[in-house]
Amino acid sequence: MPYEAVIGLEIHVQLNCPTKLFCDCANTATEKANTHVCPTCIWLPGAPVQLSEDALEKAALTCLALNGELSARSAFDQKVYYYPDLPKGYQLSQHHLPLATGGWVDISDENGKPRRLRIHHVHMEEDVAKLVHETDGRKRISLVDFNRAGAPLVEIVTEPDIRTPHEAMAFLRALRTRIRYAKTAECSMESGTMRCDANISLRPAGSDAFFTKVEVKNMNSVKAVGNAIAYEIERQEKMINEGQPVVMHTRLWDPDKNVTTPMRAKFAGPCIPDPSVPEIHMDTARVDALKQRLPEMPAEKQARFASQYGLTGDEAALMSTERDIADYFEALARNSVNARMAAQWISGRLLPALKDQNAEITDTVLSADRAAGLLSLLENESVNAKQAKELMALMFTSPKSAPEIADEKGFRQITDIDELSAILDAVLEENPDAVANLRAGKKQAAGFIIGQTMQKSGGRANPKMLSEILGRKNFS
Ligand code: ADP
Ligand code: ZN
Ligand code: MG
Repeated sequence: MPYEAVIGLEIHVQLNCPTKLFCDCANTATEKANTHVCPTCIWLPGAPVQLSEDALEKAALTCLALNGELSARSAFDQKVYYYPDLPKGYQLSQHHLPLATGGWVDISDENGKPRRLRIHHVHMEEDVAKLVHETDGRKRISLVDFNRAGAPLVEIVTEPDIRTPHEAMAFLRALRTRIRYAKTAECSMESGTMRCDANISLRPAGSDAFFTKVEVKNMNSVKAVGNAIAYEIERQEKMINEGQPVVMHTRLWDPDKNVTTPMRAKFAGPCIPDPSVPEIHMDTARVDALKQRLPEMPAEKQARFASQYGLTGDEAALMSTERDIADYFEALARNSVNARMAAQWISGRLLPALKDQNAEITDTVLSADRAAGLLSLLENESVNAKQAKELMALMFTSPKSAPEIADEKGFRQITDIDELSAILDAVLEENPDAVANLRAGKKQAAGFIIGQTMQKSGGRANPKMLSEILGRKNFS
């Protein structure tokens, strides 16, 4: 019997707030353990908690960026469980009254067909401490680092709408793009500011029943999520075909062996309303004000880039994956640079160069204004493609404008017909054999002559014009 997978994701996103959720300790990663701590976030009994306004705002913006509906009333609960990463015995989370309900993210399935994947709800919670397991001589010890304890998180819980590893990965990428547009979180699975648990079950294809699910944790990249889901689908299919029951439990992804291994039985403790954090109220005026703060979102931007600037679908998608790239592109396009040339230059030249330099597009010395100068030279054929590439490299180390550097380095492309003809004639005179071949109608000889002329001009001749001039000469 053919099966289909039913997949739901639970995604933790660490908000990029300066402080933690309930105290003023810094919400940043540090090398040294237990340095960003206070009585509140090491959870001493009786220490005061005060909900961070910044975290609430960023959480709310995140919900809106995911098309969720902010709840008029939301509140924190004490989610009870015992583990050394949570010595106080409960985590402040939202269960009964989450910050937002609903929401969705649009993706394309593996056949390019659009799919809308729904979000069940989004809630806020505090992060737990980090356990570090070490061996001290023959003794195995576990250390607790509270730097992360109390960090502001939102948890995004999807509906079980996802069917394939591809869809799960596309969902995570689209989600990350939208949240990064809202500028509320970095969303890097590699550095742990986004973590994703996958719930997976199988059912006969076409059925709408739900069967026992397994939860998989510990994936540290979007690709790993896809791999873990693919592995888990295969594992469950095999079990079902062997007549073994699927039991609800939690498994760990092992990225070295590419397998999932059992971790623990699924645990769900009680969740009771917390009396220490006041209820959160969102009236329509506040919601409207927050909505005003969201920028144009990626899908709309992509559509606009295609229609307004004539970009292809792929170019528009590339230019809208990051808000900062989109802004840079649009600054160029508004600077009356040919928009498609700008898009191709950004993705083909600028972004790879920035990656090499480990630099950000927002603070590169090659600002959009300066790049506009470079692209104008390319567009009006004052420099050729090769020169433009060298020019870009020089612009990273010099504050001068593109035309200034081009003049200084003699980078101007030769487009003057008389000047080009003079160099070409000299080459023809030096190469009587090639000229004889041209007379005999041998096409390769033209390529040779052009190559020689380019070389003689120091790479500055306009190759297209050279071909035209040569083509007009009569050798018979
Ligand atoms: P739990 O109580 O185990 O946390 P929830 O109902 O809160 O389960 O759902 C957690 C996640 O699991 C959600 O993303 C949801 O979409 C997903 N999910 C629920 N049931 C299934 C199922 N049968 N198969 C796969 N995923 C499921
Ligand atoms: Zn603190
Ligand atoms: Mg749940």
